[in-house]
Parts: sequence; C-alpha cells; structure tokens
Amino acid sequence: MTEIIIRNMKNLSDNKQFRFSLSCTICGKTWYSTPVPFSKADRMPRSDAKSIVYYAVYEKEMQQAVLKAVAEAKKYFNLCPVCKSLVCDHCFMTCDDIDMCVDCATELGEVGEIVSIETSAN
Ligand SMILES: [Zn+2]
Ligand SMILES: [Zn+2]
Repeated sequence: MTEIIIRNMKNLSDNKQFRFSLSCTICGKTWYSTPVPFSKADRMPRSDAKSIVYYAVYEKEMQQAVLKAVAEAKKYFNLCPVCKSLVCDHCFMTCDDIDMCVDCATELGEVGEIVSIETSAN
C-alpha cells in the first residue's frame, strides 16, 4: 500500500516545508499531510559548497517527510482489494467477507457499514 500511496501523492513541498496531498478516488476529497518544516529553511547558504550540503539535507528530510506522510495517509485512506483504488474512510465499507470501497460494494451487491460516518475536523 505504501508504494501506491507514494505514487498517488502530490508533492506540495517548497524550500520551506514538506507537504503532500492525496485525493480519494471516489469522492475526490483531498487530504493534506501535516507540514514538516525544512530544518534549514531560514538559513541562506553562505557558499556554493554550503548550498550543496543544504540540498543534501533537503533530499534526506524529503525522504523522511514522505514516509511520515504515508504513515499519516494510512489512517485516512484504504486500498480497495477489488478495484485497487485508494479511498477515504467515508467511501470504504466493512463487509461480511472482505472490506471494499462503496462503488465495488454497490456493483457486487455487498452490504456493509461505512468505516467512518463522522465528518473529519478540518
Ligand atoms: Zn472518499
Ligand atoms: Zn473498489
């Protein structure tokens, strides 16, 4: 699931912070990860050598931020085992045999309960 999330996640990072977004395949609702500040955001490199160092730091922190965002996304998104779509908790159902997205449940005539009926606090 991690790979699928990484592939679908949009990278909204800039030179100050790392941030990502992911949209539900069914309802289109977009979720944004908690921004992670770049540790060198307020520091201007004093030399070319320093900017290379800062860039390396940026790359490293980016990788960590991606993993953090994926871990966060897993709390709100589910991978439908039938259509392989990433859907939010509002579009995912707990069915008798296997949990699946509401689209597949409707199509296959499965009955179940929506995982999350509460509205997320934004
Ligand atoms: Zn949804
Ligand atoms: Zn599905």
